[in-house]
Amino acid sequence: MSLKPTCKEVHRLVSEGMDRDLNLVEKTRLHLHMLICDACSNFSGQMKLIRRAMHQFPVDKDTHE
Ligand SMILES: [Zn+2]
Repeated sequence: MSLKPTCKEVHRLVSEGMDRDLNLVEKTRLHLHMLICDACSNFSGQMKLIRRAMHQFPVDKDTHE
């Protein structure tokens, strides 16, 4: 298991992380990759936003901080 996943692999892990808990190794690999790859950091950030948007649809007015 390499500690340097490819962007493709990172995208897959980010997507999977939406549906299940990633294990420590997977989280570490993601984190390390994010440090060096802006594209994947952005991707991950967008996935989180989408995820959040889907979960708490417009029910709450503006709970943004
Ligand atoms: Zn990347």
